[in-house]
Amino acid sequence: MSLLLDEHRCEVEARVAAASSLVFYLDFDGTLAPIVVEPELARMAPETRTVLEELSKQEGILVCVVSGRSLADIKSRVGLSSLVYSGNHGLEIEGDSLRFVHPEAGCGRAAIEDLNRRVAGLPLLIPGVQLEPKGLSTTIHFRRAGPTARDQIETIVRSLVPADHLDLMVTEGKMNYEVRPRLDWNKGSAVRWIHERIKDRAALAFVIGDDRTDEEAFPSLVDAITIHVGPGDSTAAGYYLPDQSDLGTLLGWLLELWKNRLGSADPASQPHISRPALALKESSPILNVRLRRAAVDRRRQASR
Ligand SMILES: [Mg+2]
Repeated sequence: MSLLLDEHRCEVEARVAAASSLVFYLDFDGTLAPIVVEPELARMAPETRTVLEELSKQEGILVCVVSGRSLADIKSRVGLSSLVYSGNHGLEIEGDSLRFVHPEAGCGRAAIEDLNRRVAGLPLLIPGVQLEPKGLSTTIHFRRAGPTARDQIETIVRSLVPADHLDLMVTEGKMNYEVRPRLDWNKGSAVRWIHERIKDRAALAFVIGDDRTDEEAFPSLVDAITIHVGPGDSTAAGYYLPDQSDLGTLLGWLLELWKNRLGSADPASQPHISRPALALKESSPILNVRLRRAAVDRRRQASR
């Protein structure tokens, strides 16, 4: 059972007061930005954007946005430099010296393109359906079509991508179906991947999200403070924040806590406060190409 964050702020305050650095892993839609009927119009409230920018510039803080949108989309939608961005539910990661594309993500690309062709007529068949092709995956939104369209869309999507599909799988989100490569990799994997590359091993992580795919991120780091944006009854997060419109205020409060932390830090006893440095380890683009080729070769051999 998740705890109402407002009633347990002192616990968070104590963790921040003892932290050597902070890392934020934030979802976008429904977390940083309110859910809107037209997904392409989703944007952060100006106050949230301002506090996010200020957080990202603070000494000792790293901000990562981990979204289901494509990397290019989420980068331009947030539009702040010095953040780490992860798109396509963790399949793509970019920021500072980090560059990552899941080595096998491209293996599903042909199947995704085929799916895109097959579902192209859906918005005509069911008014209000919106398609969001994202290169490595595709989202089929039905918020505008309404909940009554769900069954019809589900039947179509499940027939195109059955449970035993070799390359693709379907997940259900808030008023959408997500078709992505069948890989054992999700937002939680991306959060772990980034966190392993942070030099400060004691950095305090916040993982904040609102949807089912964020549930895969909440348990990914053992000591993280996890916050579900929405109700607290069916989430793996430790805390919940009922209303998305309070997210900017929450981030602002954490920013102030951190400023106080920096101001009160005794340099002799706290010598390690500094921007968490991201170290590039094994994931250079060159190595990814090599891994991708190896993955293709494996699949070719398996299909023989
Ligand atoms: Mg979300």
